[in-house]
Amino acid sequence: MTKRAIRVARMFDGERLVDGGVLVLLDDGRIVDVQRGRDEAPEGWPVREEPNGTVLPGLVDAHVHLCADAGPDALGRLAERPETDLDAVVETSLRAHLAAGVTTVRDLGDRRGAVLRWRAREVRDDLPTVVASGAPVTTIGGHCWSMGGEVSGVDGIELCTCVTAAGAHVPDEVADRLAASGVAVCATLGTDPAVVTPPEVVAMAARAGLSAATLRDGAATLHRAGVRLVAGSDAGLGPAKPHGILPETLVEYVACGIPATAALVAATSVGAEVCGLGRRKGRVRPGFEADLLVVDGDPTSDISALRRPLAVYRAGDPVR
Ligand SMILES: [Zn+2]
Repeated sequence: MTKRAIRVARMFDGERLVDGGVLVLLDDGRIVDVQRGRDEAPEGWPVREEPNGTVLPGLVDAHVHLCADAGPDALGRLAERPETDLDAVVETSLRAHLAAGVTTVRDLGDRRGAVLRWRAREVRDDLPTVVASGAPVTTIGGHCWSMGGEVSGVDGIELCTCVTAAGAHVPDEVADRLAASGVAVCATLGTDPAVVTPPEVVAMAARAGLSAATLRDGAATLHRAGVRLVAGSDAGLGPAKPHGILPETLVEYVACGIPATAALVAATSVGAEVCGLGRRKGRVRPGFEADLLVVDGDPTSDISALRRPLAVYRAGDPVR
């Protein structure tokens, strides 16, 4: 039993901002109480004080590739990599996510089940929770169809760039139908602003009709139509997409016109629901798991506060 208290200026609870002082009590890996106002912690509870901090649920990155080491051509090199190397890559990737405040990841497009086998062997409260898909599921005759995962009924779509011979464009009528159906869409924006994308990669994307502007337009169209958005980074793909890049995904959502609160909802409560964890993660609420992030400033008015994590808690324990 490990009792801890966190006292901060405000809280984003997974849906909305609560201002005016918040005290969160954690015990045995769970949130046991959330008190508004400036109350003192009960006697015997060690308190972390962050007078300008915001506590929010640990973030959910709903689209990562844990086997990919984020080096150049990370997916291409994966085919030759011995499986004995992959455990270390998976754990290094998870540590980078955790340092950025991501306490749950959804792994997509695993190499021959390596992540599923790692997860079956390792029970680790000191690393993010891993929801893992195994091999990719795709449209009939679509991207990666030969891996055997063709389907025509689904409850979530990754990327949703709507690439055709005429380029990448999300038509309004497609967005409206997705909104009406309740299908969740993970639009994977966000890159490390310090990394310049190699010109050959930009040219290759341009030939497919893809650019940063078309991807942002697509995400904005989906949001305007009321599509259920979930946040994912596509971490691991290359140097511009390192593990732990989800804060930049949310910064880019806001840059393309999605309100900060909606971006945070996508990365917390909706992310947890879409990953099948909505009854225990993604909200700051008594009874929920104590996966928490504390950032410097108010991310609902300035999303870049996510770049300034003050503390990350996983299952009630501070991450060192
Ligand atoms: Zn991907």
